[in-house]
Amino acid sequence: MNNITNKRNKFLVYILLGFTFFSWAACDKGGTPTVDKPLIESLEVGHDNDGIAHPGSDLHLDAAILAPGVIARITLSIHPEGETGWTFERVYTEGYEGLKNADFHEHIDIPADAAEGEYHLHLTVVDKAGNTAETESHLDIVAGEDDHGDHDHDHDH
Ligand SMILES: [Zn+2]
Repeated sequence: MNNITNKRNKFLVYILLGFTFFSWAACDKGGTPTVDKPLIESLEVGHDNDGIAHPGSDLHLDAAILAPGVIARITLSIHPEGETGWTFERVYTEGYEGLKNADFHEHIDIPADAAEGEYHLHLTVVDKAGNTAETESHLDIVAGEDDHGDHDHDHDH
């Protein structure tokens, strides 16, 4: 008795799964033609890609974005590796939306009270077709100044 009920239930599950796959397939055929996913290349975190930011100064970010499906938005989020610390999240559209090729160049203000430590940075690009590309990088927030040593040639203050 029990065995039969189980078999019937399994059968129903298969039917449901079948319908789900069928609707996905139908969706794909009826929707817009597929375009290649966006690409995020040569992400640079910090000047000279040193992966270091200092509280109270800004963090230089740069990446080349290629989006055949045209950029809809770019999301940047930074979070601490540990339980506590500074978090940042921002969605960029201005200057990027509608472009196929973009140079993502932004400077992020690191608050003076941002906790020192290891952080993680995620950059996500979504195109108008709904494709997503994500890249991530490590970031260290350490006390100190931006312009010491080899950097003072292009800063005059
Ligand atoms: Zn910069």
